[in-house]
Amino acid sequence: MALGTPSTRTDHAPTVRELLASGEQSYSFEFYAPKSEKGERTLWNAIRRVEAVAPTFVSVTYGAGGSSREGTVRATERIATETTLTPVAHLTAVNHSVAELRNVIGQYADAGIRNMFAVRGDPPGDPTGEWIPHPQGITYAAELVRLIKESGDFCVGVAAFPEMHPRSTDWESDIRYFVEKCRAGADYAITQMFFHADDYLRLRDRVAAAGCDTPIIPEIMPVTNVRQIGRFAKLSNAAFPPELAERILAVEHDPSAVRSLGIEYATELCARLMSEGVPGLHFITLNHSTATLEIYENLGLHRRG
Ligand code: FAD
Repeated sequence: MALGTPSTRTDHAPTVRELLASGEQSYSFEFYAPKSEKGERTLWNAIRRVEAVAPTFVSVTYGAGGSSREGTVRATERIATETTLTPVAHLTAVNHSVAELRNVIGQYADAGIRNMFAVRGDPPGDPTGEWIPHPQGITYAAELVRLIKESGDFCVGVAAFPEMHPRSTDWESDIRYFVEKCRAGADYAITQMFFHADDYLRLRDRVAAAGCDTPIIPEIMPVTNVRQIGRFAKLSNAAFPPELAERILAVEHDPSAVRSLGIEYATELCARLMSEGVPGLHFITLNHSTATLEIYENLGLHRRG
């Protein structure tokens, strides 16, 4: 068996590329690898609830600074073997030599994973700090896409940024490098979270104008408490809508009213995106599926398959 040839155990599992090609809008949920037994129980509680609505796929992120290698491999393997879900395993280039990256790709393949998500990752510690590649590593996500594709028969997703990547100096280079990732073999993209549908639509138009038709799935993250307003903007660089912030702050002492506003806003954003013909919706769960499943229900989406 070649390095990255997925094992026969789940060879029948569809790729995200195949699922998107069906033409139906895809619905997917993102989790992160837990760091404790309690976190593991919370994660699996969320996974089982999400499994009940039979989403198109679920993904598991790779910890910041390359910190959750074992956890991500273990969680995606368990999803592949113990559930009916199609897992996507994230991989970042941070702190890894090419040999180590090949080794992780091999572990995913051994676990029967066919779907991977290739991101460069941010520097450990301060995500906005200087990016220093591993001396035997790689510098940009496009190289990681190539490495995964050369390693076996994988379907690979990449990141897209509706408000431009924070390190990009201008839109022209941002789009050019995004298209380069797609030409390196990416099968689809998922965006950074955002709050204005027009930001997504402008990105989609810019990519199309550059001659690239890689499907771009918008990522949705509902605000469920006041603390997240500042945190989200800092982590994602996404402009938080001032009118939503104002409405939330007006009810900040009533957590359930704050949560309802966040869910209502995200539901409206999803409905607009669906009417614009997006290829799917990708929900960040933070390992608590309740809010995202509520949006799913609000949109009138039901169990698939
Ligand atoms: P790249 O595509 O490499 O781009 C980084 C910057 O370099 C951009 O400004 C780009 O324009 C520029 N660039 C690209 N190529 C070149 C070139 N040849 N020459 C000059 N400049 C170039 N992080 C994690 O740690 N773990 C995760 O699991 C994770 N999952 C994510 C999932 C999604 C959906 C998204 C949107 C992000 C995720 N991230 C994750 C965060 C991601 O790692 C960071 O946003 C990172 O800063 C960018 O990664 P990238 O793959 O887009 O980088």
